[in-house]
Amino acid sequence: MANKKDKKEYMSFIEDGQRWMQCKHCYEYGKVSEKTVAITCSKCVTLIQINKFPDSLPKSHTYKPTGRPAGWHWMAEFVDKDGNVFHKGKEQPELKGTLKPTKVKPPKKRKKLSKDEKMFKRAKEYKKKLKAKRRSK
Ligand SMILES: [Zn+2]
Repeated sequence: MANKKDKKEYMSFIEDGQRWMQCKHCYEYGKVSEKTVAITCSKCVTLIQINKFPDSLPKSHTYKPTGRPAGWHWMAEFVDKDGNVFHKGKEQPELKGTLKPTKVKPPKKRKKLSKDEKMFKRAKEYKKKLKAKRRSK
């Protein structure tokens, strides 16, 4: 796939006739029509709303920090501060308390080089998730 650097294009793919495109803010995929050039997912729309009108929302809707790093559910293994063990976001109750909590590093600025790799990885993970969802229905 060509890397178009000078043109602002967002990643998209077609699965079962449905086109998916990355949100321009968080790079999550959302359903789009064939002609869509860019999307903002509902999650980011909500975030933007919260930023614009911080007092207009009930407190239960505001973001609650979990103490877990962003993307912890993508990690092969993550142990939270209570000793709960997760493998790719799935809790492993039998391993609870057997491992040291994963050290949470402060978020780094996005590396430009790994951005494409990340997107492909996410697309792959997302497709997997979708397939799993379909199967369970
Ligand atoms: Zn988004």
